[in-house]
Amino acid sequence: MKGKPAILPVHMTATYKFDSSDDLIDVVQSGEGYIYSRWDNPSVKEVEQAVADLEGFTHGIGFSSGMAAISTAILAHVTAGNRIVSMQEIYGGTYELFNGILPKFGVKTTLINCWDIKTLMAEIEKGLDVLYLESPTNPLLRVVDIRPLADAAHKKGAVVMIDNTFASPINQHPIDFGVDVVIHSATKYLGGHHDITAGMVCCNGPHYKKIWNCRKIMGGTMDPMAAFLAMRGIRTLELRIRQQNQSAMKIASFLAGHKKISHTYYPGLETHPDYPIARRQMKGFGGMLSFIVKGDFEQTKGFMDTLKTIHLATSLGGVTSLANQPITNTHVALSPENRKKAGVSESLVRLSVGIEDCDLLIEDLDQALKAV
Ligand SMILES: *Cc1c(COP(=O)(O)O)cnc(C)c1O
Repeated sequence: MKGKPAILPVHMTATYKFDSSDDLIDVVQSGEGYIYSRWDNPSVKEVEQAVADLEGFTHGIGFSSGMAAISTAILAHVTAGNRIVSMQEIYGGTYELFNGILPKFGVKTTLINCWDIKTLMAEIEKGLDVLYLESPTNPLLRVVDIRPLADAAHKKGAVVMIDNTFASPINQHPIDFGVDVVIHSATKYLGGHHDITAGMVCCNGPHYKKIWNCRKIMGGTMDPMAAFLAMRGIRTLELRIRQQNQSAMKIASFLAGHKKISHTYYPGLETHPDYPIARRQMKGFGGMLSFIVKGDFEQTKGFMDTLKTIHLATSLGGVTSLANQPITNTHVALSPENRKKAGVSESLVRLSVGIEDCDLLIEDLDQALKAV
């Protein structure tokens, strides 16, 4: 039959059959070919290569979630007695991994405020095995100057990793600043439609072998159906990001000028403390922003409940705009004192800008602010 599928079918298979024992032995020994889907699967391979190409690395490694990607990449690179230097502002799950789980196995972790470059540098100078960064951060969109930190960590022989989820590979290319391992929650921009939970790691040869082996054992491999949907999402990634960058900038400017907003956090605004770094380091300022409503917790809740086009939900990076109040979910565990330290006020709202008509989004925010 002539004609091939234009789109690779979903390889929903757990195992692979062979014509002869010699063929099976050959695949086991050479590592070339498929044996079992926890190890490798053609649908997963396709999206791994697509993201690796976007990030400029030779290899991608697909995971069942962003947290599976983060924990596996870390576990592949540390042993008891090792030290990880990272930032206070990292994603909640990563924070718990670093603070709660890794120390139980003798891995030391030091977390410093990402804007305190002097202390961060001093900690790197003391010696480390992994430097783990995240930029822009959640929810205040702080931007970390990657190059000098990566260079200092490399001088100490460390591996440099970054969570590039908020930026996406379109807006930020960490390999250009010396990063060895780039991690994504593919649940967010890569998938882009709020319909999969998935993760991705991108890196070159030596790191690939370690992380791939660890994934094979820990078992957090990406599912073929999630891989298929991630691949479908990636086909429109650049278009979506372009629209989200544009809309977020417009919305940030609108909010910054609104009398019922006391502060707007967006790295594309000149008032943002990291604007000069963001301009240098990022190709676009992204689709994430946050703002403080002039009002107390209850009034902010009222604002949230009045939004119509924008959905009240956690998560981010998809076609639909989502808003949440960090202290009701992602930052609920913080004590009032730590909340203040982290700059997460009870009237702070985080917005993930989708691909809807931007005027509709602004109208929605405007009508909800009238309710405050
Ligand atoms: C969501 C998220 C994660 C975790 O990803 P999951 O797919 O939910 O496991 C990690 N880092 C960042 C920055 C995220 O936004």
